[in-house]
Amino acid sequence: MSPRRIGASLGPFPWERKPKRLRSCALADPKNVEFQHLPLESDRLDKPIGTSGLNTLLDYEDQYLRYGDLKSLPRSQDVFRKIEKDPILSLRLPRPDATAGKVLEHACCTFERLLSDNKPMTFKFGITHVLKAARMSEVEGTPFKPFKMQIVASSLSQILTAKAVAEDFGVEQCAKNGISLWSKADVTHPERDVFRICILGVKGDAPYLSKVAHFYRSYNTFAKRGDERGPPKGCCPYCLAGTSLCAAEEIATATPKWLPTVAVKLPWTREPAIIKHLMHDRGDPASFFKSDIWHVFHLGFGRSWISSVIQLLLPFLPCSNLDEKWDYLTDHYMQWCRANNKQSHVSRISAYLVSYGDATGAMGNWHKGALTTNLSQWLVDLLGSEGRDPDGLLVKCREATFRVNSLFSTLYKAGAFLGESECAHVAEQGLRFLAVYAELALRMYRANRQFLFPLYPKLHIWHHLILTVKQSGERNQSAINPAMYACQIDEDLIGKASRLSRRVNIRKVASRTLERYLAAAYAAFSKEGWLS
Ligand SMILES: [Zn+2]
Repeated sequence: MSPRRIGASLGPFPWERKPKRLRSCALADPKNVEFQHLPLESDRLDKPIGTSGLNTLLDYEDQYLRYGDLKSLPRSQDVFRKIEKDPILSLRLPRPDATAGKVLEHACCTFERLLSDNKPMTFKFGITHVLKAARMSEVEGTPFKPFKMQIVASSLSQILTAKAVAEDFGVEQCAKNGISLWSKADVTHPERDVFRICILGVKGDAPYLSKVAHFYRSYNTFAKRGDERGPPKGCCPYCLAGTSLCAAEEIATATPKWLPTVAVKLPWTREPAIIKHLMHDRGDPASFFKSDIWHVFHLGFGRSWISSVIQLLLPFLPCSNLDEKWDYLTDHYMQWCRANNKQSHVSRISAYLVSYGDATGAMGNWHKGALTTNLSQWLVDLLGSEGRDPDGLLVKCREATFRVNSLFSTLYKAGAFLGESECAHVAEQGLRFLAVYAELALRMYRANRQFLFPLYPKLHIWHHLILTVKQSGERNQSAINPAMYACQIDEDLIGKASRLSRRVNIRKVASRTLERYLAAAYAAFSKEGWLS
C-alpha cells in the first residue's frame, strides 16, 4: 500500500514537511539514486544465477506491477514473488488508486475475514515498509524512525468497534476489572474511609447493547411485514413483545399483555461475557443491560413525533403554498430561538428535515439530541399560536408534547432516585403521551396516512421505562431515575475529545490530546472552584 495515500487522512508525514529539499534532490526519480537495499535473489552467490526459482517460473501474478511506486523498487519482485511462492503466506492488496480511507477499510475487512475464518487466533499488526521515509533518511543521513503508531491505532479502533465487541474481545477482561473495584476496594478517601464501587449495569444505544449482550431478539428483529416467513422472534430483550404471544404496539395501557412475560425467557443463547463476573439480578439477567431514555426519545421516536405533528399542522398554516409554509415555520422557529436564547442547530425547517413525502415513515432527518429538545419546546408555542383542526388533533398533540417536556424536565431536575410524587408524575405524563401517540397512529392508519406517527420498537422500550418507574414508585415509594442510564453526557465527552484530537500534531495525537484535555479540565475545574 502506498504510504502517501495512508498519510492523506492523517496529516503530512515528517518528510513531506520539507518539499523544497525533496524536489531539489534526486529523490523524485529513484533510478538516479543508489539505495542500500538488502541483496537481491539474483545477487546471492550461493545460488546459481537462473536457477533460484524466482526468475525461472513464469506463472507469477506479480500484483505489485499495478502500483507505480512498488514497480520501481529494486526488491519488489523478490519480495512479492517470495510471498506468492510460499504456501504459508498470502497477500491481499487494496486497489491501486484507493484513497486513504479505502486502504484502512480494506485492512479492516481483510483482518475481519481472516479472523472469522481462523478464530481463535493470535495476531500482530504492523506497517513494515514506509519506503519513501526510509529513502529520504538514507539520503539525508538522519536516523529513520518508523511512523506507524497512528495507522495501526486507526485500524484497531475500527476493528474494535465493528467486531471485537461482538466477539467478546477484551469485554471479559473489562468485567474482571469492574468486579475488582468492588472486591479489592482500593479507592481510599484521605480520612481512610473505604469506598467500594459496584457496577450496576451496562448502558448504551440499542445497537451497542444488542452486540455486547448477543441479543437474538432486539429492535432489529422487529417483524416489519405481516407475511414474515418464520414465527416472529420478538423485538424486546426484556419481554416477549413482538412474538406471536403479545404485540409490542400495545402502548396505550398500563397493563399490556406483554407485562407478565417480562424476564420469562433469556434474550440470548450464549451468556454475555460482561455479566459472567459482574453482580446482577439472576432472576432477570437481561435487566443488567439498561436502555437509554435519551436515545429512545431524543434520537428515536421523538423525531418521528415532531415530524408527524408538523406534517399534521401544515394544512392549517396561514400560507398559500408549500414553500411559503416552510419559510413560515423557519421564521417562527428562528424567532423562538432568539426569544428563548437557544441555539437553533439548523438553518431551516424543511421538507427533508421532517421527512415530508417519505412514504416509509416520518422519521425526522436529524441526529442532534438537543434539536429534539428545542423542537419539542418550540412545538408547544407553535401549536398554541397557530391553526385549529376540526378534529382537535392538534390540541391533543400540543398537550402530549407539553407532557413529554414536563417529564424530561422532572427527570433532569431530580436526583438519582425519584421520590413517590415524582414517580407518579413521570408515569402519568409518559403513559398519557403514549395514549395520544397510539390514538394518532390509529387515526392516521385509517386515513391511509400510516407514514405519520409510525410505531417503532423504541416506543415499546419507552413503555418499559415508564412502567418500571410507575411500579417501583407504587411499591417502594421511590425509583431509579431513568436519566441515570442516559448516554448524552458520555457522547458529549467523546465528541470533545474527538474535536481536540483533530487540532493537534498527528505525530503525537494521543499524548497531545490528553494534555490538552487535562489543561482544559484544569481550567474548568478551577473556574468552578473545585481546585485550590
Ligand atoms: Zn419488552
